[in-house]
Amino acid sequence: MKTNLLDLSLNDLGHWFEARGVRSYRAGQVFKWMYRKQTDAFCAMSDLSKEVRELLDASFSVNRLELVTTVKSRDGSIRYLFQLSDGHTIESVLMPETDHSTVCISTQVGCAQGCAFCLTGAGGFVRNLTAGEIISQVRDIQRDAGDMPRLSNIVFMGMGEPLANYEAVVQSIGILTDASHGLGFSSRKVTLSTVGLVPKMLQLGQDVVVNLAVSLNAADNETRNRLMPINRVFPLERLMAACKEYALPNRRRITFEYILMEGINDGVSDAFRLVRLLHGIRAKVNLIPFNEHEGSSFRRPSEDAILKFQSILMEKGLTAIIRNSRGQDIGAACGQLRADRNLGLDRRGTSGQGSAEPGSVV
Ligand code: SF4
Repeated sequence: MKTNLLDLSLNDLGHWFEARGVRSYRAGQVFKWMYRKQTDAFCAMSDLSKEVRELLDASFSVNRLELVTTVKSRDGSIRYLFQLSDGHTIESVLMPETDHSTVCISTQVGCAQGCAFCLTGAGGFVRNLTAGEIISQVRDIQRDAGDMPRLSNIVFMGMGEPLANYEAVVQSIGILTDASHGLGFSSRKVTLSTVGLVPKMLQLGQDVVVNLAVSLNAADNETRNRLMPINRVFPLERLMAACKEYALPNRRRITFEYILMEGINDGVSDAFRLVRLLHGIRAKVNLIPFNEHEGSSFRRPSEDAILKFQSILMEKGLTAIIRNSRGQDIGAACGQLRADRNLGLDRRGTSGQGSAEPGSVV
């Protein structure tokens, strides 16, 4: 089977060429065809010699994800179900706004993090996506988007924990934000959400520039331990220290995602605790009322409780925005993605609701 060329970095391809006596700058030409011009066929890459095209064709293919189906929400969001070459399925969500669109992409099939409020936790982990499979979600949807507002924003908030698939995610970010040879998205428009894998999080700040979102969901260890098993490995003290240490570009803030669940983390005391926890961090808070779904005992708080929580944060000087997930009627909202072929209630693969909450961060 041929290698998917989308899995290679520019350097990888440059080295591959050099090893075959071809000048490495040819890699840039190939990348421009694949990413800037959405070309899949080597024979169409007209500034390459016939020999180089044949060389590429003998070893590589430029793959598309197999689109199984799309479902459109009343709010305009489109849920894409893609099948991978080994038969597993993943989901991505395109969310058009007035003047731009955002795509929420997956980084793993399933997820090992087991957050209590997320269907992915029940489905378990299957495998990491390759860099090419991550990039393809954007590349394929960009081609498909047609007359949608310009696709300018990417959120790594679909299925999986991005930092648990570090190498592929960083490679994909490099290509997505490469203005010369890649897809050319502004790094200001790319957001990665994590449950807080502390060492990888700090590494990320050194390796790439993207917006960082932390799926927080509780301001005390006891509650967060119950909601997110990762907190037993990296408790709030370590997570907050890492947030302070994170190499945040000037004038940017870390987004803290906080899913409000009735009686769990939505009280007045929780709000004050959150204010104290975020003291000294350049932070903004996205408050996400829980999306109730079958099989979950968590409940969405009342509107009064949501507004009260927000007002406490704001009175204490925090930016706090209530984000209602989009695509709820098509199961594309937080915690509703399931990646089954029928878009039904299969739990083979899901998308999360903490690091995975389409439409609510940007
Ligand atoms: S919320 Fe995110 S990290 Fe947690 S289980 Fe769901 S997909 Fe995984």
